[in-house]
Amino acid sequence: MTMPTLLRSRATARPPVPGQTAPAHGPPLPLGTAVLILLAAACAPATVDDQGPPAAVAVTNATIIDGMGGTPITGGVVVAEGGRIVAVGLAAEVAVPDGAAIVDAAGGAVMPGLADMHVHMVGGWDGVSTEMLGYRRYLNALLHAGVTTVFDAGNVLPFIQQIQAEIEAGRLPGPRVYMAGPLIDGPVPIWPPITYFTFEASAIWRHATQLAAAGVDALKGYAGLDAEMVDSLVQAGADVGLPVIVDLGSRGDYAAAVEAGVLARAHAPSGPLGDDEIAAMVEHGTASITTLAVLESFARRRLDDLAFLEHPLIAATTPPWFLDALREHATRSLSDQEKERAAAIEELLMTAMTNVKRLSDAGVLVVAGTDAPYPGVFQGEGIHRELELLVEAGLTPLQAITAATRNAARLMDASDEWGAIAPGMAADLLVVRGNPAEDIGATRDIVAVIQRGVVLDRLQLVFSAQDDPGFRTVGSVAAN
Ligand SMILES: [Zn+2]
Repeated sequence: MTMPTLLRSRATARPPVPGQTAPAHGPPLPLGTAVLILLAAACAPATVDDQGPPAAVAVTNATIIDGMGGTPITGGVVVAEGGRIVAVGLAAEVAVPDGAAIVDAAGGAVMPGLADMHVHMVGGWDGVSTEMLGYRRYLNALLHAGVTTVFDAGNVLPFIQQIQAEIEAGRLPGPRVYMAGPLIDGPVPIWPPITYFTFEASAIWRHATQLAAAGVDALKGYAGLDAEMVDSLVQAGADVGLPVIVDLGSRGDYAAAVEAGVLARAHAPSGPLGDDEIAAMVEHGTASITTLAVLESFARRRLDDLAFLEHPLIAATTPPWFLDALREHATRSLSDQEKERAAAIEELLMTAMTNVKRLSDAGVLVVAGTDAPYPGVFQGEGIHRELELLVEAGLTPLQAITAATRNAARLMDASDEWGAIAPGMAADLLVVRGNPAEDIGATRDIVAVIQRGVVLDRLQLVFSAQDDPGFRTVGSVAAN
């Protein structure tokens, strides 16, 4: 059974968002470069006052990275109109419409907006506490970093439903959201507030039916499910038209889950992985979401040098008190047990990297995701880190980018809608300095983010302590 075809393409029913620009909530920042000034002028027509369809926008003087792994085109132009890409090619071949807003890439690159296909948009910074009232911060952080699509892999159902619906309606700036809603776990859930728990197989069909009615995009099976229950979940999902993505923990029976027909593993395998298991994934079309960034977080590897917190994608979008808490977390002295645990997880990270390379080489659909937020894994910046880790794992930069563009869209059966630069596709674009096809770190050096044909005003997406209510995190979604 090839599960992806069962999945509805949410995005196709979605109208372009007119004049998508975040309401002003911060003091004007000094404009750092001439490029930004040009952009401010370029995006002037696209404001919340202008409710018409997005004007034409053209990215010029760019190396085009199509998101499908194609050979980059230097000296390229991408034209979008009405929220969709209408022309792609060499400057000599593509006519730029009169009156189009021009984003001059100045020899940099244009690529599809990035997708992070494993996030939990519940606020907080540590992966456990929540800060739902601060949703604007992380939606802004995602857009600011050029993330135009996310898959929320577990959340409080009505909360994520509303986030998705308001973004879809164009009333809330944010990336395109796919969602699992709550995890479906066994009788003793690991994350009670974001879980539907299951005492018996009959409950699984009821959960699947309810979640389908609620409009989720996939079911997320969790670690307390045994092989039989995973099988029931896949069957119930098929009945209601939903694929199943699983995180069965380190002791889960993934071979049975692959056999049952799950769409994807929510994390890259971080333990022993036989060639026969990889072959089974290829045979059944099972994808793997990567989430190397979260393993790096638990290994505390990234926390050895906190200089990365100065990166604008983090510093400009994160409440300072989150950064203070993270610094405290990173610098406190660890018990021997904690040190051993971190070292053990670093081994898992290395194994997961090896496995991602093997999966990619074998033809498994490898999809970038981060599991943000966790300590050191940020909404938005996290996917740029994931791309770097995928390259460290041995993928080429183009393969890594494709994992966060075309492959992400394929996971959601939406590759005819977004995730590539080609005529007809949604005009979600990331313009950067440098060439990420040669240096993956260049994806961070952002010139412009274009969402459905509108150049976003990224200065409006930065965090402003002056205007932020200062909400703090509460509670824990993890069971004690
Ligand atoms: Zn997760």
